[in-house]
Amino acid sequence: MSILSINCGSSSLKYQLYDWDAQKVLSSGLIDRIGFPDSNIVHKYSGQKTERKDRCADHRTAIHLVLDFLLQEAKLIHSLKDIEGVGHRIVHGGVNFSASARIDDAVLQEIKDNEDLAPLHTPPNVVGIESARALMPDTPQVAIFDTAFHQTMPEYAHAYALDYELAKKYKIRRYGFHGSSHRYVSERAGELLGNKAGLKLIIVHVGNGSSLSAVQDGKCLDTSMGLTPLAGVIMGTRTGDIDPAVVQFLVRKTGGSVDEIMARLNKESGMLGISGVSSDQREILSGAAQGDARCQLALQMQAYSVKKYIGAYVAALNGADAVIFTAGIGENSPDFRAAVCAEMDYLGLAIDAEKNQARSGEPRVISAPQSRVKIMVIPTNEEFIIARDVIELVRGV
Ligand code: ADP
Repeated sequence: MSILSINCGSSSLKYQLYDWDAQKVLSSGLIDRIGFPDSNIVHKYSGQKTERKDRCADHRTAIHLVLDFLLQEAKLIHSLKDIEGVGHRIVHGGVNFSASARIDDAVLQEIKDNEDLAPLHTPPNVVGIESARALMPDTPQVAIFDTAFHQTMPEYAHAYALDYELAKKYKIRRYGFHGSSHRYVSERAGELLGNKAGLKLIIVHVGNGSSLSAVQDGKCLDTSMGLTPLAGVIMGTRTGDIDPAVVQFLVRKTGGSVDEIMARLNKESGMLGISGVSSDQREILSGAAQGDARCQLALQMQAYSVKKYIGAYVAALNGADAVIFTAGIGENSPDFRAAVCAEMDYLGLAIDAEKNQARSGEPRVISAPQSRVKIMVIPTNEEFIIARDVIELVRGV
């Protein structure tokens, strides 16, 4: 049986069809520029990629297009009954959801109630759920929240030092994101390291978006993203942590609105803003190799910001058994890992240069034998977490 996972953005839809028994992705794709005359439609399956432009008026049409493709073109399913459940990736679960949930009217309402915590992402997430329910009324639907894994953070770690009543009233606190990735990687690390009691892990998820988490006994103790994904380490286009007074300063200096400045902090900053070249790590690496000083600075700043969080989490956990790299940059860039782990011997981290360079899609240890803290690379697999949660909630296992 297959699981369809859906991730609706404001004008895009990403999907994946996962074969649970074979434990593999059968097809994945993206429809973007939804609502424009020239929507871009990409499907990947069986090693092939199809790409075309077509009009896709709204998210409901987008889901329709995906189902038509799976049924008629790719023939990966023979009827909608072959889809055992639909998993919806929901960006913000607020304080209501500490685990995935089967969607009924009450759950949908709670998701809607969190809209002001993620005003750009929640409305398209809701449209995705409503469209899928309308098109597949007999298929169970499950919500998987980016925030859920981090709900175990103790209050002293997730609370902001705002006026307590104000913060409570508006639910302003650290939530954290990339939860399915942090959960997958910490589970895999637990298995690989023998799940000893008290296991302390620092997960370094660095891709376009980046976040770290401190995990003890499989539970998140702290994470670097906050109320929104803007906080934490430097990312592809986001600043990461910054003095909030910068916003007011830029409003005064540029005459831009708060919304405009926030958009710049989210979309035009980070590695893109520093390098002036790209948000793509590969382009920055190649710029730096050709001597571009701003690309070199971007890489130094990125590694330094991650290094500081590792130091903070070693302190928060009172030690660490392993530091684990994951996501696009964490998994694929030996240069990034080497820069982060350089001169960390005081904390007990010693990377093995040769193991760090070796390319593999498998989980692996890249620390030297004398390293007190293991350094690992574990490829993330959010699709697996989504599919497993759907299976568990639908089958009740
Ligand atoms: P997202 O947050 O969108 O899921 P990913 O986790 O896919 O992003 O990470 C994308 C980033 O990974 C890009 O900056 C890309 O350049 C980088 N990346 C992918 N492969 C490599 C590589 N071989 N070396 C360095 N960076 C890489």
